[in-house]
Amino acid sequence: MTYAPPSGKRLPVAILGATGAVGQTFIRLLADHPWFEVKEVVASERSEGKPYREAARWIEGVMPESVRELIVQPVDPARITSSVTFSALDSSVAGDVERAFASAGKFVLSNAKNYRMDADVPLVIPEVNADHMQLLDRQRRERGWKGAIVTNANCAATVAAVALAPLEEAFGIENLFLMTMQAVSGAGYPGVPSLDILGNVIPYIADEEPKLELEMTKLLGRYEGGSIHRSPMKVSSHTNRVAVEHGHMVCITASFRKKATADEAREVLRSWKGNEATFNLPSRPAQPLVVADEPNRPQPRRDVNAGAGMTVTVGRVRPDPILDIRMVALGHNTVRGAAGGSVLNAELLAVTGRLGDA
Ligand code: NAP
Repeated sequence: MTYAPPSGKRLPVAILGATGAVGQTFIRLLADHPWFEVKEVVASERSEGKPYREAARWIEGVMPESVRELIVQPVDPARITSSVTFSALDSSVAGDVERAFASAGKFVLSNAKNYRMDADVPLVIPEVNADHMQLLDRQRRERGWKGAIVTNANCAATVAAVALAPLEEAFGIENLFLMTMQAVSGAGYPGVPSLDILGNVIPYIADEEPKLELEMTKLLGRYEGGSIHRSPMKVSSHTNRVAVEHGHMVCITASFRKKATADEAREVLRSWKGNEATFNLPSRPAQPLVVADEPNRPQPRRDVNAGAGMTVTVGRVRPDPILDIRMVALGHNTVRGAAGGSVLNAELLAVTGRLGDA
């Protein structure tokens, strides 16, 4: 499957929440994107009217020249000409703003939690559940929007879902226990105060455990007849903030409906390629999932940038004395778990001809 931008021109897009940690990751990932070009940036009243270079406290690397002089716009769809908008808005405003953009005919690719669990809103990781995009037909019909909202998952749920999708497909997960160690960049910018996190672990991230537990069952659920039938697995989680810059690590213990050994699970993980609809998408890594053989991997410092931040690395796949198997997964929270996931969703929509609807 191939897609070329119409008349060789890249599609203009807007970034909502462009000044934050995820917004900046969008700017970096889209700077040289073959299909999309950032033409508009949107943020709060604090930033509105300023050139982007002044409004954003740039966190990583060098700010792309192409966005430096863009003037930050208010969150008003009437002021935005792009039909495709990537949203990295804080959840306190994302609900109203994303709805206003979708009802004004914009296609919104959202990172916020607000609409993820709505029955007519796709929650998509393309390699895992590309077919869930079919919910868009229902969304348009029921809400009467010309535009649409497509969401990507919570950053820790994304890492766990990529690691577990092959096992759910092969064996069916019955019980699932997840324990996370989540990077500080997951809390946005400026995020967790340094005196709270340096040399420390915080065993609480507001709202994170319910999000992780619920989203797993939708991500690994089945699309049928216009609805998602959530996976019947039981999920229990502990979420922790740790003094790591980027990369969420998830310790996973699982039991299966169809019994399998750790060796069989490792083989299934190793041979998984993900949904074939994604094979030619520009942001898809060569391998969405890799299995590390070294006993002390994955590690954020060594593995977080695998596949340009889009690959999830699993390791330590071994038998478990209580459930069936245990293992560790790691992924980049602002790339695979946020902006990169949204860009991949937009690419999937483009090759399936859906972005043109907006
Ligand atoms: P962040 O660094 O705090 O950035 C928040 C962005 O929202 C900024 O651009 C901010 O603009 C804008 N904003 C805040 N209040 C606003 C208002 N009243 N009107 C308009 N814009 C407003 O947060 P983040 O970490 O990038 O997260 C962004 C979203 O992605 C959140 O919903 C978060 O839950 C989700 N997410 C984050 C991660 C991650 O790893 N960080 C992963 C997955 C999902 P100003 O600069 O002008 O204030």
